[in-house]
Amino acid sequence: HSRQVLYSTQVDKQSQNFPPCMLNLHQQLRKRHRLPHTQRFYYSLFLKDIGMPVDEAVNFWRTEYQQMPNGTHSCCHNWEKDEKKFVYGIRHMYGLEGCRKSYSSVNCHRIQSEDNSCNAVGCPFKIFEHERMLHILNMDSTEPILSQIYELKSRYNYTAACMKYMQSKHLVMKTKCDIENATFNFTPVKFYDNASMKSN
Ligand code: SF4
Repeated sequence: HSRQVLYSTQVDKQSQNFPPCMLNLHQQLRKRHRLPHTQRFYYSLFLKDIGMPVDEAVNFWRTEYQQMPNGTHSCCHNWEKDEKKFVYGIRHMYGLEGCRKSYSSVNCHRIQSEDNSCNAVGCPFKIFEHERMLHILNMDSTEPILSQIYELKSRYNYTAACMKYMQSKHLVMKTKCDIENATFNFTPVKFYDNASMKSN
């Protein structure tokens, strides 16, 4: 289906419909103005797949990478110095440079299969401890749904935990389905589509 264009200035508002993994990347980026390489790739592809055109992507990343890095993950990348490289990288992802392959965003299985426990940028349902979970889910510890989320998490069923959260927060699924059987090939984009259907 055709998507609405996502402008770089709308990302903060739209992030209320992001899955916890992408919301976390967004918050980290806004705070530190940098993301580790792989997460920059994942987040860019997610934004692309939910409707951000290439020019807006360039604006979006320029806004952050023009600023000084903040925090322990500081890196030496700087927009002024590396502008050509950055723009090429973004256009490449959109299939406009190099081999002209348009990349697609990754699924939950891929995100969860990487070990990101040390830098806290993977699937929150897998790697976050209690306090960070409450923060990223925007819940307090008395929330009834939490015990169900933790129960699924303890069985390593992180995607089902995420879908449970999505249902409780956004109250909608395209089709009524058995969560535990629907986790195969779930993606951050599917989460967003379900969440934004309710709020738009
Ligand atoms: Fe993101 Fe998937 Fe984890 Fe949900 S289950 S937070 S969509 S990686």
